[in-house]
Amino acid sequence: MNALLQRLATRIALAGPITVADYMNEALGHASHGYYRHGDPLGTAGDFITAPEISQIFGELIGAWLAERWQAIGSPARLRLVELGPGRGTLMADALRATRAVPGFHAAIELHLVEINPTLREAQRRSLEGRLPVDRLHWHDALAEIPADLPLLLVANEFVDALPIRQLQRTARDWRERLLTIEDGTLRFVLAPGPSPLAALLDPAVARGEPGTIAELCLPARSLAQDIANRLSGHGGAALLIDYGSSRPTLGDSLQAVAGHRRAEVLADPGNADLSAHVDFAALAAAATAGGATTYGPVTQGEFLRELGIELRREALTRDAGATASAIVAAGVERLIAPAQMGTLFKALALCDPRSPPPAGFSTAA
Ligand code: SAH
Repeated sequence: MNALLQRLATRIALAGPITVADYMNEALGHASHGYYRHGDPLGTAGDFITAPEISQIFGELIGAWLAERWQAIGSPARLRLVELGPGRGTLMADALRATRAVPGFHAAIELHLVEINPTLREAQRRSLEGRLPVDRLHWHDALAEIPADLPLLLVANEFVDALPIRQLQRTARDWRERLLTIEDGTLRFVLAPGPSPLAALLDPAVARGEPGTIAELCLPARSLAQDIANRLSGHGGAALLIDYGSSRPTLGDSLQAVAGHRRAEVLADPGNADLSAHVDFAALAAAATAGGATTYGPVTQGEFLRELGIELRREALTRDAGATASAIVAAGVERLIAPAQMGTLFKALALCDPRSPPPAGFSTAA
């Protein structure tokens, strides 16, 4: 039994079954054994690959989007630029490189990186070397540590999908929470003996689900969206959340584990596989609206990146490049925008200060 499973077994023996969120919290965040506490999960040698690692154009376009939002709020002389879960720092390095000629932008930035993984913090430090003075780079374990005193620009790519979800299952009578217990050293799902009060938070379309169906709720994602929105309505700015998930409330069990670029068993090896769940963009947008922000989207990643000019940028990068380099750039762009790849499953949602004009990239929003 791995060390984390052993810990969970003890906890369950003492206090009874745990929620799916408890499981995700331990498996991803446990101080020494948690998946996001050690090693580098990204890239070909790791477990999965993300958009900024696929093409530099991703971070460049997001950099241009952020610089435009800075101008849209009146080019303030100081702002907090925040990235949640910056991975290797690739997105931010590309964003800063692409915007270094924007007069006054870099001079205004205090950069705050929210990251719990020490290996990745080190990778971020290396990626950002020379891009901003070191005294303007700050690391945090959570957004709450960052002062809410200045305009905010925030970006998060594939961060929200790692936040812990709760799962409910419809029975003939009511919604029960799905919990985890342990038998003979193996975790397995059981249903709580009574109805769950969380059912009150389900979208009405989801709450009508047939017996047997599963619904998911991500409470930390909702409070995150609300916190960001409060900051935006207080001091101005904008946030861009990109992740995989659905635009409308949906039923179903989306919890998944990935290790070594393959789907793995969700309960088999806690701490050694990435766990994530589909992001409920409708719930995020509703929480942001309640927090005082104006939301745009979600639109698909393909729509968003096309509108920001990914095809023009691909042409510029391939025009003078050799055949091999051009093919690599073109394949990366294809992977980001093709519907069968990341173009449709991934979505972008913007949260803005209601006083600022609409951001680029969202004109296709329904
Ligand atoms: N945005 C990056 C990395 C995505 S992977 C990219 O697109 O390549 C998820 C990132 O979020 C990692 O950097 C991981 O260490 C970090 N992370 C996950 N859970 C976190 C938490 N609860 N608090 C802070 N960082 C977290």
